[in-house]
Amino acid sequence: MRIAILSVHSSPLAHLGGKEAGGMNVYVREMARELARRGMLVDIFTRYQDRTLSTVVPLAPGVRVINLPTGPAVPYDKNWVLTYLPEFVSRLRCFADGEDLVYDVIHSHYWLSGEAGIRLRRSWGIPLVHMFHTLGVMKNQVARSSEETETTQRIAIEGRLLRAADAVVAATPLDRAQMVWHYGADAERIHVIPCGVDLQQFQPQSQEAARRKLGLDPNQRLLLCVGRMEPLKGMDCLIRALALLQQHQPAWRDQLRVLLIGGASEEQPDHWNGEQRRLAALRDELGVTGAVSFIGAQPQQLLPDYYAATDIVVVPSHYESFGLVALEALACAAPVVASDVGGLSSTIEDGRSGFLVPPDNPQALADRLERLLTDHALRRQIRHAGYQRALCYGWDSIAPRMTLLYDDLIRRGQIRRPAMYQLANVS
Ligand code: UDP
Repeated sequence: MRIAILSVHSSPLAHLGGKEAGGMNVYVREMARELARRGMLVDIFTRYQDRTLSTVVPLAPGVRVINLPTGPAVPYDKNWVLTYLPEFVSRLRCFADGEDLVYDVIHSHYWLSGEAGIRLRRSWGIPLVHMFHTLGVMKNQVARSSEETETTQRIAIEGRLLRAADAVVAATPLDRAQMVWHYGADAERIHVIPCGVDLQQFQPQSQEAARRKLGLDPNQRLLLCVGRMEPLKGMDCLIRALALLQQHQPAWRDQLRVLLIGGASEEQPDHWNGEQRRLAALRDELGVTGAVSFIGAQPQQLLPDYYAATDIVVVPSHYESFGLVALEALACAAPVVASDVGGLSSTIEDGRSGFLVPPDNPQALADRLERLLTDHALRRQIRHAGYQRALCYGWDSIAPRMTLLYDDLIRRGQIRRPAMYQLANVS
């Protein structure tokens, strides 16, 4: 089986932790690898952003990334992708024709690729599977400024995709329900398949050893937050919670530290985006500057060490359709405190495999962190149950669900095709 994966605006080869590269890129890369391990041939089509890359870049056995010129070969605002989409689609068709490739399924990621998927499906007549990763309507519910607000065009395209795609994959039952409530989607065509985690890469290890490797103080209490520097990630809530904790536990003042991974490091303030500058101003205003460290984006291979080194991983997002960081942390047996939103509410069973707190509520977060930091036995219990929870999300259990869906769509397509021929012959 040959699969065409579309990830137009962001490449699986992109540097993670920047503005436009995070969970979706990881998902596309890992799912493609898993499909190839199961004997499929996978091509991931993305737009050229880096002139140093060749058109075809092998990613893993059976998986290639195909870079297609789509407007200027530099990073640009993702909304511009729509303008250049006809170029992307026609170059993709030429590539497939040039190599004599016939695909069995198109799998598009994010609304921009979905639009390309609809056009390709029209000419190739093969099933289109779509994943949104985030929904425009949901993002707008938590947007605090016009900069964070998604366009009406995005929402219209998302609605169209829900009607046009042969199947839509939702990461959680809530994700599916949101598509039904907000877009009037047909629930029957939405399949819930959670995201997976690489249980070989993300594994428990000793906190002491991890701190030694990273050069972190063995005696401090460390809280970790990993994510792109975006208001949606709610890192401001964690900084506020830290200030509250310091007030409540003055003895922790020099002992408690927050590490923020993502964006640019302390040494590169020129590379901070608006959100990171806002967070820097907030830590100054609250008098916790010395206790909050910007570590900068880190290669994913280092994240298991960070998860293991910290006392609590905090995911204070306002919205997360799935939230891979929480799952990765659970797989490393790190205690997780997360906002009770989106996918986080399904991954974490509150009070058992982690804790859920209301989003954007620094006091609730501080209370929960204090309880966990002071109760060693509770932390140990949560670590254990969290790790057990992560084992349900290994790629070995997740990927077969996707291949079953592909098989089913192809089979149904084959049943439909002869019927169409009969109709054509009658007329
Ligand atoms: N990530 C990374 N380095 C960083 C920051 C993030 O490798 O500096 C990875 C992280 O391991 C996770 C993904 O980026 O796999 C973030 O996914 P998540 O679903 O938590 O957030 P999203 O980016 O989709 O909003």
